[in-house]
Amino acid sequence: MASDATFQLVYVSAAKATFSPAALGQLLMKSRVNNHRVGVSGILVHHAGSFFQVLEGHRDVVETLFRRISIDPRHHRIQALLRQSVAQPSFGDWSMGFVEGAQRELGGLPGFNDFFRRGFELTEVSGKASSAKELLLAFRAGRFRQFVDV
Ligand code: FAD
Repeated sequence: MASDATFQLVYVSAAKATFSPAALGQLLMKSRVNNHRVGVSGILVHHAGSFFQVLEGHRDVVETLFRRISIDPRHHRIQALLRQSVAQPSFGDWSMGFVEGAQRELGGLPGFNDFFRRGFELTEVSGKASSAKELLLAFRAGRFRQFVDV
């Protein structure tokens, strides 16, 4: 039975200004350090100004982090897609992936996730995809991308 011990929050947002590969790399490293400190795992995906992020950890910690991310002036149009308790995290570590672009610049960074190139393990141990992963795959396919006007 799922408990509040692992809580997942999925949201999408739009960048307010263009993120260079260097700025994305900085965001990845900062987020990795911060999230590791508070026991949060997940994934951050960026495509052409649209962000998709899964945060997972203790519910209070995840909600507090999401509030902080929500007031970050670098993005807007933040829309939560999913909040749920799960039996176990879907993303064991903190990572960032890209639908396309920036792989060359960021491929060597710890935490860089190139599953968009390599393919992606859809199934959980139970053989069923989690909703967070389904949403991620839908984002990869072009859904939920936020209107970007930069
Ligand atoms: P600092 O990094 O020192 O930031 C202090 C303040 O400056 C914050 O208000 C911050 O919003 C602002 N700031 C920092 N860099 C810039 C910049 N280049 N331009 C303008 N303002 C800036 N943080 C996490 O810890 N974990 C995450 O998973 C995470 N995901 C994010 C996803 C997205 C799409 C975005 C846009 C930001 C994300 N952040 C994440 C960053 C988060 O919003 C805060 O900036 C960060 O948590 C603050 O870290 P800090 O307390 O160490 O302060």
